[in-house]
Amino acid sequence: MFDYKLIRSDRKTLSVEIDRDGGLIVRAPRRLDKATIECFLESRKRWIEENRRRMLERRAAVVQDSSGAQTVWYHGSQLQLLQHDASNVEIRDGALIVPHNWTQAYLRAWLKEMCKQELQSRVPPAAALLGVQPTAIHVTEAKTRWGSCSSKNSLNFSWRLIFCPPEVMDYVVIHELCHIRHKNHSAAFWALVAEHDPQYETHRAWLGSHAALMDLF
Ligand SMILES: [Zn+2]
Repeated sequence: MFDYKLIRSDRKTLSVEIDRDGGLIVRAPRRLDKATIECFLESRKRWIEENRRRMLERRAAVVQDSSGAQTVWYHGSQLQLLQHDASNVEIRDGALIVPHNWTQAYLRAWLKEMCKQELQSRVPPAAALLGVQPTAIHVTEAKTRWGSCSSKNSLNFSWRLIFCPPEVMDYVVIHELCHIRHKNHSAAFWALVAEHDPQYETHRAWLGSHAALMDLF
């Protein structure tokens, strides 16, 4: 039997849905007995398994393209995922090459580390140009925002920024650094962003049209 989260309410019918992590949510009338609920789930078994698989596939960072090759997002493009005998990860000729025994968790950790290194090299020069000093830089698991700036001027960035083109990453860095000066999205804030990233509208639009990248892994 499936594990599921049961939400009872004044409704009259049973329904089942799958959340973004592949979990089951069952909505049921207040007094309906468990046996009936589980019998219902059993009858929907194929639908549940199929949709759960699809949901998790959509979230997987490694996806098959139309030719059947595996690809992974990196710096704004989908690199082909290849394997080699070595134990390191390499990027060569438009391909991301991983060891034979790679796993999703391994690849995720590597991408997160790359993001950390990128931010460590991108933030200090951008901060110097703006004349601001963040108190800390954190790389987070955030899924709803690419970056944020706390009231104490510590900056948070989603590690999934590694999926974005370098110039978009720079835009997010500049955006958060500008929040050290302006804790809002006022006209003065955007003027400062524009001063340091004249293409910021294009970069914002890229993020808008690639919001699904937030769901990967
Ligand atoms: Zn902002």
